[in-house]
Amino acid sequence: MRIDIITLFPEIFEQILNVSITGRARKKGLLYINIYNLRDFSENKHKKVDDYPYGGGPGMVVRPDVVFRAVESIKGGYVIYMSPQGVVLNQKLAEELAKKEHIIFICGHYEGIDQRIIDTIVDLELSIGDYITTGGEIPSLVAIDVIARLVPGVLGNPESLKNESFISSVLEAPQYTRPYDFRGMKPPDVLLSGNHKKIEEFRINEALKRTRIRRPDLLDGKN
Ligand code: SAM
Repeated sequence: MRIDIITLFPEIFEQILNVSITGRARKKGLLYINIYNLRDFSENKHKKVDDYPYGGGPGMVVRPDVVFRAVESIKGGYVIYMSPQGVVLNQKLAEELAKKEHIIFICGHYEGIDQRIIDTIVDLELSIGDYITTGGEIPSLVAIDVIARLVPGVLGNPESLKNESFISSVLEAPQYTRPYDFRGMKPPDVLLSGNHKKIEEFRINEALKRTRIRRPDLLDGKN
């Protein structure tokens, strides 16, 4: 999968995208990620990318000409604008997006971006939740991380996806590791029994139990 990111703060990305699962996927050639500084597409001598909102109001708005030049320089790709007004990201949507070959992420800033960009070159407005972050950088990193781990081959062991929370509409069962006795607390005996059928049953029951308590909406099939 190819991912292009258009941002005012390219330095935020490399550190995070170069480590762990995304870092390994890039090294393996499963993910090609390019980061573009929006200021490089400004024709203003001070590299300005924003201007006052028509009609007045607080803050600044990202100009359409600069974003158009950036997107048009990339050619092709499914264009996502990270926006609190967009459709909220969930695992199901991430699975759909992981099938795309090429995604371009536009990270907004200030009061947002000129509506004409959204009306013409944006394919999807994507939100990470009902709250406002300062810019689209952290939201796009969340989306890229969630999508990238669903790209075939990216996770070393695809089995780890199978029981993950939300994948099968339930939360994952609790996990335990060594030491066996930690300050008097021990893992449930069944997990050490070696009886795979019993372990599977225990995990299904625990997963259902905690989903019923914490996220009953997932069991209604509404999410
Ligand atoms: N004034 C805008 C509004 O009320 O819709 C919010 C602007 S916000 C301070 C600046 C940028 O952060 C947005 O253009 C968007 O790219 C990003 N952003 C903020 N919250 C977000 C969220 N929940 N999901 C995705 N992107 C978000």
